Amino acid sequence: MGDERVKNEALEIMGLFQVLPRLVVFDLDYTLWPFYCECRSKREMPSLYPQAKSILNALKDKGIDVAIASRSPTADIAKTFLDKLGLKSMFVAQEIFSSWTHKTEHFQKINRRTGVPFNAMLFFDDEDRNIQGVSKMGVTSILVGNGVTLGALRQGLTEFSQNWGALERNKQKWKNWGSSETNEQNECPFSVT
Ligand SMILES: [Mg+2]
Repeated sequence: MGDERVKNEALEIMGLFQVLPRLVVFDLDYTLWPFYCECRSKREMPSLYPQAKSILNALKDKGIDVAIASRSPTADIAKTFLDKLGLKSMFVAQEIFSSWTHKTEHFQKINRRTGVPFNAMLFFDDEDRNIQGVSKMGVTSILVGNGVTLGALRQGLTEFSQNWGALERNKQKWKNWGSSETNEQNECPFSVT
C-alpha cells in the first residue's frame, strides 16, 4: 500500500470514533522501526516499519500530538535516526533514556511536559512489561507484534474509546449519586448492572 493510501486509511479509521486521544505515544525499537538502535551505527540510514510514517502524518493532520517514550540506552543514535528520517520536529515530547521502571518515569515526564492527562493518552509498545506498567497509570496501552500498523491503530482507538466511555459512565454515576441525597430511590453507583 502506498504512503498516501495508508495515510488516508488511517484518517478514515480516526473518523470512525467520536472520542480520540489528545496524545499518542510511541516506543521506538520494534514499534516505529524494526531494530534495536544500540546495535546500529549513526552513519547508517535507518528505515521505519512500512506504515509508521503515514500513521504519524495522519495523526498530525487530525491535530493529535505525538510523543516518544523509549528506554534505549543510546539516545544519541535514536535522535540521529529521527533526524535522518525527518521526524525530529514532529514530537511534542521525546523521552529517551534507560530506566529500571517500565516507562512509568517516561510517562510522568511526558505528562509534566505536555499537561495531557494519562487517560487522554494512547501508547504503542512491543514489550508486555511496559504495557502492563503504563496501563496501570490510566494510559490506554497497546502491544504491537510487528510494529505499528493500521490494525494496531484501529485496535488502539477502539480500546481508547471503550476506556473513555467507561470513565464517562462512572463520572455520570458519581454525579447522579451526589445529587441523589434527597432521593432514596436512586441506585448505588457501584451496583453492577
Ligand atoms: Mg521496543
